[in-house]
Amino acid sequence: MHTFEYLKPKSIDEAISLMESHGERARYIAGGTDILVKIKEKKVLPDFLISLRHIPEMAYIHYEEARGILRIGGMTTHRMLEKSSLIRRRYPILSDAVDNIGSVQIRNVATIGGNIVNAVPSADGAIPLITLGAQIRMRGPKGERAMELVDFFIGPGQTLLEHGEIVLEFVVPKLPSYTGMAYCKHTRRAAMELPILGVAVLLSLEDDGITCSEARIGLGVLAPTPMRALSAEKILKGEKVEDALLEKAGKVAAEECKARDSVRGEAWYRRAMVETLVKRLGKLCLERAKES
Ligand SMILES: Cc1cc2nc3c(=O)[nH]c(=O)nc-3n(C[C@H](O)[C@H](O)[C@H](O)COP(=O)(O)OP(=O)(O)OC[C@H]3O[C@@H](n4cnc5c(N)ncnc54)[C@H](O)[C@@H]3O)c2cc1C
Repeated sequence: MHTFEYLKPKSIDEAISLMESHGERARYIAGGTDILVKIKEKKVLPDFLISLRHIPEMAYIHYEEARGILRIGGMTTHRMLEKSSLIRRRYPILSDAVDNIGSVQIRNVATIGGNIVNAVPSADGAIPLITLGAQIRMRGPKGERAMELVDFFIGPGQTLLEHGEIVLEFVVPKLPSYTGMAYCKHTRRAAMELPILGVAVLLSLEDDGITCSEARIGLGVLAPTPMRALSAEKILKGEKVEDALLEKAGKVAAEECKARDSVRGEAWYRRAMVETLVKRLGKLCLERAKES
């Protein structure tokens, strides 16, 4: 095993200044469930691992009631999200995702920030967050910045994060009152499995309980980065959400999803499952919107 020095800064500023001192020889570590595997496989060989686990202010789930904004700290573990009654009640799309990440042992240490920065096309945290329209906030040697999370991913394992930058938090903007949301990771087995595809749907309804005021569809694994099915979303907006319309949206999402063949699933199967899951999750969104 490659050896490295493990550093434990107590604040974000200290972590950034350690990173500036050690440059390319250093990497941040959060839960370690991705980076330690990469070190073992000799894909990265840092001399210094700068741990973010001892910075208390980085792990939180805050809901600003007055503005309807959700903030999730970069060091929030999947288990914290899974156990949060607020997330389960108001953002079930995130519960759907984290409930099925790895195992309890993994979820206890693995963080949402690590999941996003690792940026594999199958990242379960990414698909719900882009569907929620989340922003990502970062701080590094050059200061702080924010961007739409969907624009953060540029390829498999590649993001716009610059060396030394720390992901501070994810900010989910206010959602309309009648909103339903759901995520499904489609796998061969129920647990500890990489997905064949991931689909998330969010629908907001007018007061009549059937006309769609906002529609978002997030897709994962299919393209090199998590993506929104924008043409399929347009089909739903402003229309009455009935079975035939959901079916049409599913077909359009399947056409625009850029599905490819891989060892876990062929492109034709993935397209068929996108069609099925958009419709199925759309119906679940209607039920959840009515409960919300
Ligand atoms: C057995 C097993 C099962 C798994 N199952 C799933 C699954 O079902 N679904 C899924 O999506 N993933 C799964 N994973 C992958 C992994 O657990 C997740 O991606 C996890 O969220 C990574 O978080 P971490 O805190 O462990 O990241 P780490 O490994 O600590 O870090 C990953 C990368 O992110 C960087 N980083 C971490 N935090 C920050 C930050 N705040 N700011 C800047 N850079 C940062 C690190 O430098 C590193 O490059 C699994 C992994 C294992 C080992």
